[in-house]
Amino acid sequence: MLRLFFAALAIPALLAVQNSHKLVVISIDGLDARFLSEPALRVKAPNLRRLMREGASATVIGVAPSETWPAHASLVTGVSPWQHGILENDRPASALKTLALWDAATANGLKAATVYWPGTLGAKIAFDLPELQETHKGNAVSFDSIAQKSAPAGLTSLIEKKFPSFAKEIWTDSSAAQAATYLLGSESPDLLFVHFSEVDSEEHETGALSIYSREALENNDDLVGQILAKVPRGTIVAIVSDHGVENNNRAVRPKVMLKQAGQAGRVEVRDGLIGTSDASVATLFRKLLQDGRKSGLSREVPMAEVRARAPRLSKWVAAFDTLPDFVANEEDRGPAVGSGTHTGAHRMWPNRPGYRSVFIVAGEGIRPLKLGEIEMLQIAPTLADVVGVKLSAAKSTSLWRQISR
Ligand SMILES: [Zn+2]
Repeated sequence: MLRLFFAALAIPALLAVQNSHKLVVISIDGLDARFLSEPALRVKAPNLRRLMREGASATVIGVAPSETWPAHASLVTGVSPWQHGILENDRPASALKTLALWDAATANGLKAATVYWPGTLGAKIAFDLPELQETHKGNAVSFDSIAQKSAPAGLTSLIEKKFPSFAKEIWTDSSAAQAATYLLGSESPDLLFVHFSEVDSEEHETGALSIYSREALENNDDLVGQILAKVPRGTIVAIVSDHGVENNNRAVRPKVMLKQAGQAGRVEVRDGLIGTSDASVATLFRKLLQDGRKSGLSREVPMAEVRARAPRLSKWVAAFDTLPDFVANEEDRGPAVGSGTHTGAHRMWPNRPGYRSVFIVAGEGIRPLKLGEIEMLQIAPTLADVVGVKLSAAKSTSLWRQISR
């Protein structure tokens, strides 16, 4: 009755929140926007490109720290890491200080499912295959440790009945895709969150946008296609990522710069920035910035920008970012600027040029639209509108009214 009343008055804002679709969210860890925007990379991703063509898409400015678990928590809460409390990787769900999408959904009687999504262990989720620290064996992830912690108990045996190849020694993105297709086919979740991690792993080993990470992405695209084939009609599908990726081709060592200048004081590297709470050190780095490429520095980042994204760095008086392909570290020996690791890196400052992730959303009622650049914190309230729940802590504007027909 209430719904009819509002419909009669045609109040679009209220109707928008009452919208209730099923939702599938797939996170491709380390999916830098350039993978899909640079034609020269020739990434074959027909499923992702179709979603981009048929739905709405954006490049995304991330959060600080621009790190896997903190960012995944921001994707489901709509608040910054300093607010939700996940500032490092490998934290249990109990460390999350704000309501996540699965909490709001479960409280509204919706069935949520999570597959290898960071930070779900112990949360109220109907079906959970958690990612956690003890699952990692170097670069590999132990399948058994995920199976042991999954909920409800015996979930992995049920999946195995459907997919005899499911149980393996090592958990892979294919395991995540099989679990997702099982859940869609047999358990009808209202919300499903899936996390793929192989693109990021390849980037860490072989560099940003490397041929191997592109192959991993092409494989992920295929898995996305398998999941899409099982998605019921009327479901909205979102592709997200936690951060962009940078090449650590040149290392910048601010502590060595300080030593070489014979200057006392402190300098540190946090969230990809070089920062100091010492005015004389700030003056030295302003001078070094004038040296251009030789210093590896790109710009002084206004402290207002630093405080807004990372209040824990408010004690600094100045902050500096590095040039593309230059990554700062805290080593106090070696050349001030020298050869880097030549591998992929993240935890960079979110506003760094080119360092962007992606948001794609498609399905019934979503119109084809290029949103340009958005903030990561806009994603969670948008997804909340898709399923018709409220995230009270999320203050950023939902994109729902822009993207829906
Ligand atoms: Zn990541």
